[in-house]
Amino acid sequence: MSAQKSTLSRKQRIVVVGNGMVGHHFVEQLVQEDPNRDQYDITVLSAESRLAYDRVHLSEYFSGKTADDLALTTPQTYLDWQVKFHLDAKVTLIDKLKKSVRTLSGEVFEYDKLVLATGSFPFVPPIPGKEREHCLVYRTIDDLDAIQTSANNGKVGVVVGGGLLGLEAANALKELGLKTHVVEFAPQLMGVQLDQSGGQLLRKKIEDLGVTVHTEKATKVIVDGEDCVHRMEFADGTHLETDLILFSAGIRPYDNLARDFELTVGERGGIVVNNECQTSDENIYAIGECALWNNFIYGLVAPGYAMAKVAASDIIGGDKKFTGADMSTKLKLMGVEVGSIGDAHVKTPGAQCFTYQNGRDDIYKKIVVSQDGKTLLGAVLVGDTSEYDSLLQYALNGIELPENPDGLILPSSGEKPTLGVDALPDTATICSCLNVTKGDIVTAIDAGATDVGAVKSCTKATSGCGGCAALVKTVTDAELEKRGVEVSTDICEHFAYSRTELFHIIKAESIRNFETLLEKHGSGLGCEICKPAAGSILASVWNDYILQADHLPLQDTNDTYLGNMQKDGTYSIVPRMPGGEVTPDKLIVIGEVAKEYNLYTKVTGGQRIDLFGARIDQLPDIWEKLIAAGMETGHAYGKSLRTVKSCVGSTWCRYGVQDSMTMAIFLENRYKGLRSPHKIKFAVSGCTRECAEAQSKDIGVIATENGWNLYVSGNGGMKPRHGDLFATDLDDETLVKYIDRYLMFYVRTGDRLQRTSVWLESLEGGLKYLQKVVIDDHLGVNAELEASMQAVIDTYQCEWKTTIEDPAQLKRFRQFVNSQEIDKNIEFVTERAQIRPARGIEKKYKGIQIQTVDVTEHQTEQQNERETETA
Ligand SMILES: Cc1cc2nc3c(=O)[nH]c(=O)nc-3n(C[C@H](O)[C@H](O)[C@H](O)COP(=O)(O)OP(=O)(O)OC[C@H]3O[C@@H](n4cnc5c(N)ncnc54)[C@H](O)[C@@H]3O)c2cc1C
Ligand code: SF4
Repeated sequence: MSAQKSTLSRKQRIVVVGNGMVGHHFVEQLVQEDPNRDQYDITVLSAESRLAYDRVHLSEYFSGKTADDLALTTPQTYLDWQVKFHLDAKVTLIDKLKKSVRTLSGEVFEYDKLVLATGSFPFVPPIPGKEREHCLVYRTIDDLDAIQTSANNGKVGVVVGGGLLGLEAANALKELGLKTHVVEFAPQLMGVQLDQSGGQLLRKKIEDLGVTVHTEKATKVIVDGEDCVHRMEFADGTHLETDLILFSAGIRPYDNLARDFELTVGERGGIVVNNECQTSDENIYAIGECALWNNFIYGLVAPGYAMAKVAASDIIGGDKKFTGADMSTKLKLMGVEVGSIGDAHVKTPGAQCFTYQNGRDDIYKKIVVSQDGKTLLGAVLVGDTSEYDSLLQYALNGIELPENPDGLILPSSGEKPTLGVDALPDTATICSCLNVTKGDIVTAIDAGATDVGAVKSCTKATSGCGGCAALVKTVTDAELEKRGVEVSTDICEHFAYSRTELFHIIKAESIRNFETLLEKHGSGLGCEICKPAAGSILASVWNDYILQADHLPLQDTNDTYLGNMQKDGTYSIVPRMPGGEVTPDKLIVIGEVAKEYNLYTKVTGGQRIDLFGARIDQLPDIWEKLIAAGMETGHAYGKSLRTVKSCVGSTWCRYGVQDSMTMAIFLENRYKGLRSPHKIKFAVSGCTRECAEAQSKDIGVIATENGWNLYVSGNGGMKPRHGDLFATDLDDETLVKYIDRYLMFYVRTGDRLQRTSVWLESLEGGLKYLQKVVIDDHLGVNAELEASMQAVIDTYQCEWKTTIEDPAQLKRFRQFVNSQEIDKNIEFVTERAQIRPARGIEKKYKGIQIQTVDVTEHQTEQQNERETETA
């Protein structure tokens, strides 16, 4: 069936009808194959008044993007490519015998190969009244202009259709300031992509954002309203008044040309194509949303692009075939993360399901696994799509699942299986819209691409829906690193700055919140990388209360609830015990609290007491009691100073040469509350016997006959590192001065989630350079470092004290956002006379696994040590 590569003396005439995303992609493919333009004469006929634009990101038109921003090409580019184009040129006739098409204005174009890329149009149900003014659809830039005009004159808007596009349209109406409703015929939202539980949760989340959802509603008629322009009357006798109606009830292929001119169409529409994307006439191709392949119309851009490639290949004599496409989707609807992969509705016989529901944080995750447990068949994610990329790779590449596949979505004590970039085969699809594989990225890098931008422009990865941006960066960075190339230090795609640069910007411009930072120096909405990083920097610089309204959204779960979340969703409580010193009275109060709330009690490695098993609603009461007894938060949850461990030193020990206890207590009180790129631990030993193990800490202080030896950047945990001896025989004052400078320099220049050990190793010049900065004031910044530290010390507050004194803050400490109910799935059993979380078979409430997970931590901590050790 394939045409032979042109051997004709004249160029082959290719006429493309429709210049949507897919038609344009086809043109790009053909131009690429014929760079000198001596084989093909391409003519594009578009019914729209502008060349191709990015329909996928159409909604961004309402948030400030212009038609030019959305354009995928320009007239000049087509001229440069010698591609002839005609706008407002709707094709109305195909003459298959003469091999020509005619436009509405009567112009005739002859072809050797005709490509129909006419896309689809929004389906408007046949409801009487649908043609009234302000009844619109959501497909083109012109549609959006009309919506804007209608919205300007109205107060209420209704979207008919609760699918993916309907919800995107609802978001647009909301952004335009309308009171927004979604009316859906089916019992749930996004019924194609989500199962019932996912749909229910999505509905709740969307309603929480102020959009009213009406399911199982069939509109009977639209008539004049009393308070609004329209009144929608439903089959169940209810009605709804609105000023604007947007129909988004599915799409229908533009197959009228095929119907009128005798190309085969499907029973329910769509131009039938074979694996080469040829229609029933071998000289006519159909691609994109107008094409019906294997009785299926793909409503996504990626399959359309794949078809464009196949059609171009067939025309030039290649052998590409269209063999179907993945329909997985990841998107953010009104800020709600939603993902759907493969067999979301568990249609595969024998498939097993693993479900994770987190009632408090409104997260639902399900994976569908083959009967033998080896292959991922599908997934549904609502509220948190952080595992989407990994899951998609498992599903698309048939990568064998770990022994316990539920670990892929369930929080666990740190052994969460991760799919490293190296585990992906070269054939792994990284960008499904543009069908870019890991191998394509590797090839681009081998051909000279040295950063993500170059990889993107070379492969076109991320230029579809953009959902693969993070994975493209990860793969690119990993491959560049392998080749010894320095990778970009931009914190994420929203800021073209490293963490250090952001720090300086915040300080220099006195920026007090994330919104201002984003507005002045970033783009987009921010993400789970830049938000916590900015939160940490703002806290280091200004030391505001971290639960202040504008900082709250930046905090991860532990900081949000000022407690360390455990694997069963309960929290642990760690009062500060500077230097590990505690009075009997305080110990008694801790014991009483532990008994009253039935908490598991354990002495930690950092010399304090950890109380486990508190429900979120119990936290304020518990802290009130501890604070009344003179205790304060131990910041066990924060990226901040944790503990200063110490031995009893010269006070009690016969070997001790300095008072290590007093020094430890002083240091802990001095630096408590300091927020930093990662947690910081100290220790002080009273002599070189080193009972406090100071050399494995970020700051280690060891007493000598003449003062103190200072060790820096030690670490225990997964990557142990012996601290470096930084300075010897220091007096108290110099010791503290050096620590002030060292810590502030780390806080400023450390990367996000970088422990001091890794930071020092990555500092150019290493220890010697650090000594020059801190001891010799090589950069002339020491006065400023000291002043910054003093400002943090002067503004210290016990976050728990501030919280319990503010009734408004206490409202958040509930098990479920919308109710006072208690999570029944938190269950304990007794072991060694204390509680511990019930394991699977010990639970009374079976069926649903309700656990909780700190999303930010999980994403960011994968390479770092687990935070459950809280001391
Ligand atoms: C708001 C919105 C959000 C979306 N989000 C996503 C997403 O996140 N991910 C995703 O994968 N997909 C998304 N899509 C779908 C995606 O945009 C489509 O799959 C893609 O645009 C299809 O491209 P196409 O070229 O086949 O059709 P179209 O883009 O519809 O282009 C067809 C063109 O042909 C023209 N035409 C029709 N008939 C004629 C004729 N007789 N003569 C001349 N020209 C004609 C039409 O006017 C149109 O310009 C979204 C769509 C919308 C509307
Ligand atoms: S480090 Fe030295 S002073 Fe401290 S307890 Fe051990 S032996 Fe005693």
